[in-house]
Amino acid sequence: MALKLFNTLSRSVQEFTPLDPAGKSVGMYCCGPTVYDYAHIGNWRTFVFADLVRRTLEFSGYGVKHVMNITDVEDKIIKRVRENKTTLREFTGKFEAAFLDDLKMLGCREPHEKPRATEHIPEIIELIEKLVARGVAYKAADGSVYFSIDKYRGCGCNYGQLLKLNLDEMRAGERVASDEYEKESVADFALWKARVPDDGDVFWPSPFGEGRPGWHIECSAMSIKALGETFDLHLGGEDLKFPHHEDEIAQSEGATGKTFVKYWLHGAHLLVEGKKMSKSLGNYFTLRDLQAKGFTGREVRYLLLSAHYRETFNFTLDGLNGARSALARIDECIKKLREVAAQLNPESETQINNGEVPFLKERVLVALQNDLNISEVWARVFEWVRYVNRLLVTNQIRPENALYALRDWDETDFVLGIGVKSENEIPAEIQTLAEARTAAKQARDFKKSDAIRDELKAKGWVIEDTPKGIKLKKI
Ligand SMILES: [Zn+2]
Repeated sequence: MALKLFNTLSRSVQEFTPLDPAGKSVGMYCCGPTVYDYAHIGNWRTFVFADLVRRTLEFSGYGVKHVMNITDVEDKIIKRVRENKTTLREFTGKFEAAFLDDLKMLGCREPHEKPRATEHIPEIIELIEKLVARGVAYKAADGSVYFSIDKYRGCGCNYGQLLKLNLDEMRAGERVASDEYEKESVADFALWKARVPDDGDVFWPSPFGEGRPGWHIECSAMSIKALGETFDLHLGGEDLKFPHHEDEIAQSEGATGKTFVKYWLHGAHLLVEGKKMSKSLGNYFTLRDLQAKGFTGREVRYLLLSAHYRETFNFTLDGLNGARSALARIDECIKKLREVAAQLNPESETQINNGEVPFLKERVLVALQNDLNISEVWARVFEWVRYVNRLLVTNQIRPENALYALRDWDETDFVLGIGVKSENEIPAEIQTLAEARTAAKQARDFKKSDAIRDELKAKGWVIEDTPKGIKLKKI
């Protein structure tokens, strides 16, 4: 069965065919975090969705190049840098590191490339120059460079590919300088923002004068650099359809004259406890907030993966308790299978066979290939758990079947990424301390590395250096 996905461009479920003539490699870009704060659970829904798309492609046999940008310069960041009286790099570096830690805690595979906007200023300037040369961008009296929607449409290009826009009400040349704006205000948007006093020392020289890039052009420049002028998949939350993604299309197609992206995938919104998330309602959660309440990244991942990506999802703390119970059922089943498999005589490995255990991996793959039908995936998983449990209770499962079932589970988990709770799970805090000790040792700061070793000991863990790296053991 071929993979089918809902393409926002065609508003329909389409069979996925990569641009690669050999049909093997896939380029995938997902708009990354704007690193001005900790990512919230609504953001995480999008990143876990992107991880599922990537894993499904890999599970289907494709080689994926996954690119996720880091927006480390835009309106909100500059405001916070000013308020915190810090430097851009110091401020964004902290939130970028926190984001990548959280991504790991949620079991997401790390993107192959994570380009930062501030490290792509020459590419951004080059793209703007192309747009100016093609007559679809212009420098305004305020010194900024804007994209002209009128000129772009005048070239026969289509503005409003991802959603219907009322372009008749648009007044030619009306401009919007901020990165985020409403659908009603379709207007020429900023590609390069001329330096203003509030920007502090956040500015770069350019042929248009000192300034900084707009948010939308950052993604066009970095995705083209990493994946080429036309690539397979572009993902993001549905709130990014307009203006961000529509503007990305206009900038990229306006500069290259080629189709920018073949398939656009958008994840739906998330509500928390039935309401739009907001700090004032007390239903605003970062991953760290949920961890402080005792939930694990694995439980959050499971809950975020329980709903179809195109459905609005109501995230609740009750749901997280449900995720904990569901995962415990899987863990218990796998634990018992391991006990039975442990009785296998190593020489009889050749006898491994399916026997009475139903095959899980193929069923999960078929469900995922149907536009990521995740509810069917979980239905299949728990059908399998129930079946295996029945066999276990009645002692009807032989060690070779148990081993077979465990392998089937491991291969299935390649796409689910929920793993199995390990008896010797190392808490994230201990892992982080161990990594800090290795870094200190490498930097020959032995005083620090010894202090961290003592701290680990006080927390009940010993660290051993082995030829294969460090080993952590509970005292
Ligand atoms: Zn983007």
